[in-house]
Amino acid sequence: MILITGGAGYIGSHSAIDFIKSGYDVVILDNLSVGHIEIIDRLKEFAKDKKGNFVDFVNADIRDTYALNVLFNTYKIDAVVHFAADALVNESVNNPRKYYENNVLGTINLLNAMVENKIPKIVFSSTCATYGEPKEVPIDETHIQKPVNPYGNSKLAIEFAIKDYAHAYGLKYTIFRYFNVIGADEDGISGEWHDNETHLVPNILKADENKVFSLFGNDYDTKDGTCVRDYIDVCDLARAHTLAFEYLCEEDSKSTILNLGTGEGQSVKEIFSAVESALKTKIPLKLCPRREGDPAKLIADAALAGDTLGWSSKIPLEISIKNAAKWEKTLSTLKCTEAKA
Ligand code: UDP
Repeated sequence: MILITGGAGYIGSHSAIDFIKSGYDVVILDNLSVGHIEIIDRLKEFAKDKKGNFVDFVNADIRDTYALNVLFNTYKIDAVVHFAADALVNESVNNPRKYYENNVLGTINLLNAMVENKIPKIVFSSTCATYGEPKEVPIDETHIQKPVNPYGNSKLAIEFAIKDYAHAYGLKYTIFRYFNVIGADEDGISGEWHDNETHLVPNILKADENKVFSLFGNDYDTKDGTCVRDYIDVCDLARAHTLAFEYLCEEDSKSTILNLGTGEGQSVKEIFSAVESALKTKIPLKLCPRREGDPAKLIADAALAGDTLGWSSKIPLEISIKNAAKWEKTLSTLKCTEAKA
């Protein structure tokens, strides 16, 4: 059985979908601070006719030792796939305490409970933000790690803790460093759902005459002056977590750190045009100054994930955009229902 922390959130819920589709039993722990109960309901519904099984949802915080011990005593957990975290760069600059408490202390608490309850495997969601300003692109896993904000620092601190715990207490791990995650599952179960949306694709999709899309900076040293990122579909990303679990179950597997990206870079302008052409519509845009802390170019060298897990990204950008657009419609309905309740 797999414990997914943060499974009511965007990436965690897609990982739950992939584990359930692959025939695994899943328990989700989430404090619903960022995640949504509606996503849990939709996952339960989805699991009904699949091979796998949504076994339980525990509404608790990873800092709650008692809740973790009860959970580990109730279920035979084979691995923890750990997403629960705060992940807003700006917020982390203004409120670092939240990031050190929720991300770092929370994960230490989780690791302690895993060691005490002899849970042997962890798959952890880290980030390319641990690299900081890149020295060269594409970025491979040996690139120096020098985060430029508390969010990146908190994830790097956890990477250190996992490595040290693994060495001392025999845990096995896969640490994934994500690049820019986009899209939604084709069944429309989940998608990006943030109270204050900051991410590129949902912001383009939400734009209209009253809420013009703001493009932050067109004077970067890139092909068209706008920032370049490596956009990976959330379902491709989720798949890698299931493969990592299966890999960790192999006798001779090793703990590893792997980038997850496509290896290709797209500029903000290219993504904007791709959304316009996928949806066959014109979207209003205004040029704005640079957003603080945005590096010009982040592209993954994800070859190691391919070699280690036999994984590669498969979903084309156009499909990611169409699924994200479909999700935006579902989200509007969910928000209306939530407002009426
Ligand atoms: N971006 C933008 N307008 C928006 C949101 C994002 O121009 O409303 C740009 C942002 O400046 C960055 C890129 O899109 O260059 C990706 O930003 P996002 O927040 O999606 O991901 P990040 O790379 O910051 O993790």
